[in-house]
Amino acid sequence: MHLPETADIVIAGGGVIGASTAYHLAKGGAKNVVLLEREPLFGTESTGKCAGGVRAHFDTEINCRMSALSLPAFERFEEETGYSADYRKIGYLFVLNKEQDVAAFQRQMDMHLALGLRTEWLTGDEIRRRLPMMNFEDALGGLFGPDDGLADNGAVVQGYVSAASRLGVRCLTGVEVTGVETAGGRVQAVLTSAGRIPTPLVVNAAGAWAGEIGRMAGLEVPVQPVKRQLFTTTPTPEIPADFTFVIEFGTGLYFHREGPGLLSGMSRADQPPSFDQAVDEEWELTHLETAAFRLPLMEQKGIARRWAGLYEVTPDHHAIIGPVEELKGFYMNAGFSGHGFMHSPAAGRLAAEEILKGRTESLDISCLRKERFRTGKTLDEYNVF
Ligand SMILES: Cc1cc2nc3c(=O)[nH]c(=O)nc-3n(C[C@H](O)[C@H](O)[C@H](O)COP(=O)(O)OP(=O)(O)OC[C@H]3O[C@@H](n4cnc5c(N)ncnc54)[C@H](O)[C@@H]3O)c2cc1C
Repeated sequence: MHLPETADIVIAGGGVIGASTAYHLAKGGAKNVVLLEREPLFGTESTGKCAGGVRAHFDTEINCRMSALSLPAFERFEEETGYSADYRKIGYLFVLNKEQDVAAFQRQMDMHLALGLRTEWLTGDEIRRRLPMMNFEDALGGLFGPDDGLADNGAVVQGYVSAASRLGVRCLTGVEVTGVETAGGRVQAVLTSAGRIPTPLVVNAAGAWAGEIGRMAGLEVPVQPVKRQLFTTTPTPEIPADFTFVIEFGTGLYFHREGPGLLSGMSRADQPPSFDQAVDEEWELTHLETAAFRLPLMEQKGIARRWAGLYEVTPDHHAIIGPVEELKGFYMNAGFSGHGFMHSPAAGRLAAEEILKGRTESLDISCLRKERFRTGKTLDEYNVF
């Protein structure tokens, strides 16, 4: 492996966040940027294991604004990178069956409308009419986002990596970051399995492993790995091709069309933090039972594929983006807490703006800095599952 002798910027982690950051930095005019991924291919960790969902509706304004910057970028992705993001606006429907969730989602709607997000409120009866194949007798109401839907996670990573390479970024796989050398309160170099790269700036885009990269630089980065698992079913011709992304918010059970069948996930609320990515068969049984209760058709279907991956969770379920105050030249872009794919266009663009111009122009993201955990100015996101 031939490493560059020096770099202006080294990005640690070649998932969708690192790839988007690399592309946007190069597009903004950065020279001598290196993207390092330890796996043999880009985007095979959380990004490659994600459900591909993209949505606009969150509980906090900053998350909604990150989506509002990102969704149009998926639309013009082919123009920008040459790859189609295959953005399909099938909509997201949050089905609510608890009074407290109805109150929380109705409260959020004013903010959604003020931000110009297309948002529809559905009554329980409207949900039952729209989803006759599902058992939502207890649904009290729901929020529908018509611009939400799915995009192709593999194509988005490839698109960003290819476009970044064309603009001159050295995109390297099979290179592990093993250390961050510091002196005088500044980053001096990144140490890797293939050698040392002197650099004044490192971007921590290591997803669930962001805490490890932080520790290499002597920093505490509050990002924890938390397992989430999915399965796809055998063909479901009974389900229409434009079937919406349905989430039963109370249990975190969700379904969407995937190839000839369905994809389903269900979040285990008490999943302990760990790097374990083995499918938990006991949880899968609970998941299957809940899925069959909500969609009785499931009883006639088998599992086609199953897998688990890692969410990269921060204590307030918001990303950490920005420079850190303890160490000059260390920039965070990680901890998206299960919505990093959908926020990747904004995350890369905003990081590039801040690194190249000293401030962001598209959106004020100062509330996302790591320092919020020291000052107590943390955020709170309700719409996570
Ligand atoms: C089951 C599941 C479903 C999901 N569904 C959705 C969804 O529908 N929509 C959505 O928006 N998000 C979803 N997510 C979350 C989404 O996948 C993540 O938020 C997003 O992929 C984070 O991207 P990333 O680049 O930060 O992380 P990653 O894709 O994990 O990239 C980080 C990279 O850093 C590399 N790395 C780590 N340490 C080092 C090192 N020392 N040296 C070099 N490289 C290193 C890793 O190998 C990895 O490739 C889901 C996640 C899971 C697990």
